[in-house]
Amino acid sequence: MKKLFPTSTAGSLPKPSWLAEPETLWSPWKLEGAELTLGKQDALRITLKEQEHAGVDIVSDGEQTRQHFVTTFIENLSGVDFENKKTVRIRNRYDASVPGIVGPVSRQKPVFVDDAKFLRAQTNQPIKWALPGPMTMVDTLYDDYYQDRKKLAFEFAKALNQEAKELEAAGVNIIQFDEPAFNVFLDDVNEWGIEALEIAKAGLTCETAVHICYGYGIKANTDWKKTLGEEWRHYEKTFPAIQKSSIDIVSLECHNGRVPLEVLSLLKGKKIMVGAIDVATDTIETPEEVAATIREALKYADADKIYPCTNCGMAPLSRDVARGKLHALAAGAEIVRKELSA
Ligand SMILES: [Zn+2]
Repeated sequence: MKKLFPTSTAGSLPKPSWLAEPETLWSPWKLEGAELTLGKQDALRITLKEQEHAGVDIVSDGEQTRQHFVTTFIENLSGVDFENKKTVRIRNRYDASVPGIVGPVSRQKPVFVDDAKFLRAQTNQPIKWALPGPMTMVDTLYDDYYQDRKKLAFEFAKALNQEAKELEAAGVNIIQFDEPAFNVFLDDVNEWGIEALEIAKAGLTCETAVHICYGYGIKANTDWKKTLGEEWRHYEKTFPAIQKSSIDIVSLECHNGRVPLEVLSLLKGKKIMVGAIDVATDTIETPEEVAATIREALKYADADKIYPCTNCGMAPLSRDVARGKLHALAAGAEIVRKELSA
């Protein structure tokens, strides 16, 4: 029988301090050239072992080889100027220095495919690989060329599709598109965001996921969350159309937020990566807290569709805290697994 409640993380995990400045987004590398390549591979080995040791079922690269979950992919496309960065406001929330679109975008070469092959060679566990979603990419740059968000998103989706097909061929089991922007531009999601995702996943035979969250646990995001009211009902606006899409898995934020879990009932038939770990606090959840979130999700979704996960990436956390949270996640899932088999 298939194991219930397979655990995974949303994506990023902290990097070792010898590779990049810890607890920082867009942290510059501390190594260069061949040393950097080897350093990234060592970091990838460590993050894999830590996930396996914690008992995480679906493992990932912890995004050890990329500086940022969006810009690293964008910077590898042609048509992008990453030398003349400009400051833009991301998701209407915080300013960041980002690359720009100055010509037609296209993918000339694989971006993460070698990293995925490397990870595949290290483990027999199922692998999930995160890519940025088209809408979130559009929101993380300036565009002096297309000047049309939908058009640019569709171009990105084509590039993502090329990458995704090669990742699948490299042995990736689940390809995940990160779309935090789906919780901000709700009308656009329904008008063209999901359509863009369908282009990005066209022709894939592996499973696909979309990760939609309220962002990393950085101050700009936690401040924004305070303005969102007593109940966060963003998911309610987009889940009906996502339910009709061909995406297999939806990853969302549940624990410690104000998301009413009844939104899960809008995802009938989908697998659901239930965020049971808060990435915005250093407090490590107890396994019992994780179990409580899973039990709550069970009110709205079938057991075989629930995949316990983290709310978002853990890159900005300390390694000790992230490690503790991984262990709590796996232990919490095991509690509910035992309850159901009793
Ligand atoms: Zn996230």
